[in-house]
Amino acid sequence: MCGARRGRRFVLTPAVSAPRATEAVIRVEALTKRYGDLVAVDGISLAVERGEIFGILGPNGAGKTTTLEMIEGLRRPDGGGVVVDGLPVWPDPNDVKRRIGVQLQATALFDYQRLHEIIYIFGSCYGIHRGRDACVALLERVGLADKAEAFVDELSGGQAQRLSIALALVNDPVVTFLDEPTTGLDPRARRALWDVIGEINRDGTTVVLTTHYMEEAERLCDRVAVMDRGRIMALDVPRALITRLGAEATVRFDLSDRVPAADLCLLDGATDCRAVENGYEVVADDAQRTVVSLLELARTRGLRVAHLDIKGADLEDVFLSMTGRKLSDDEDEANASALKKRRRFGFGGGR
Ligand code: ATP
Repeated sequence: MCGARRGRRFVLTPAVSAPRATEAVIRVEALTKRYGDLVAVDGISLAVERGEIFGILGPNGAGKTTTLEMIEGLRRPDGGGVVVDGLPVWPDPNDVKRRIGVQLQATALFDYQRLHEIIYIFGSCYGIHRGRDACVALLERVGLADKAEAFVDELSGGQAQRLSIALALVNDPVVTFLDEPTTGLDPRARRALWDVIGEINRDGTTVVLTTHYMEEAERLCDRVAVMDRGRIMALDVPRALITRLGAEATVRFDLSDRVPAADLCLLDGATDCRAVENGYEVVADDAQRTVVSLLELARTRGLRVAHLDIKGADLEDVFLSMTGRKLSDDEDEANASALKKRRRFGFGGGR
């Protein structure tokens, strides 16, 4: 587990992670899923360690949900295997389902049922018959104790997501799966939910989540698998993925006149460069030298530098370097897609 996150929540981990227990609670081998001609998940392998928060980061359509559903026993793979807590998920996923908690992208609930009643009903499906106090105690874990008597219909989008996480905990699972838990939430609600997820993990539950928010993956997850077009492009501690890029920062700026982007690759400290919509981006292993060199180039060519900005390397840069595309380009589309799915089920995010 990531010691830095546990000591100082949501502070990036150092380049070399603290030693972790290495017992795998999930093992995925060559997992494959096809929909007709489309290979949605293309022979991926990974292991999730007991006690960690493991993230699958990728854009819309990367195959994250399909992967999760095959691990959860909800979607039958075309190839490969999954073992959860020592049990093969397929061909009969029922035993595994009893040991895991699942929050789907969309959850259908009755609008006029009280929260503590819903907790009771979901628990009783596992043979766990909680009294009212125990139901409220579970709601407390997701910060909803004061809403125990409220109806589902009265919840905000963020509260509805918290409830769906509580429902994924009713059977005291070994692993909880959260499919894009914060998509569509405003930044404040998203951060509050990160707190909830961190707390659940500290209580001893392994968490596997999907996200297309790189900040979420970076701040919340002990390890991240970067997924694109059905494949895992990279898997490691977020900071290690970023460090391996060898990029210190991205220097962004505009110039009063266009120059060939290739000229900017010659700046001191530059490792990559590109023209973007509003100017240029230069990836630099020494941002200070690059900025000095840029100002010198501008002076010799009689150009003015505008909107100069230096951004530390992050998972966006990792994704860009591996796919040639920006993860955030898909953000609006991914938000819209997730909200559409939730509205269709009449729960969470539609309010
Ligand atoms: P999102 O962030 O939008 O949830 P994702 O990374 O979770 O995307 P998946 O939902 O796993 O991606 O979808 C992977 C690919 O498989 C996409 O191209 C999608 O259109 C396709 N797909 C998913 N489910 C089905 C299905 N039931 N039938 C046919 N194609 C599907």
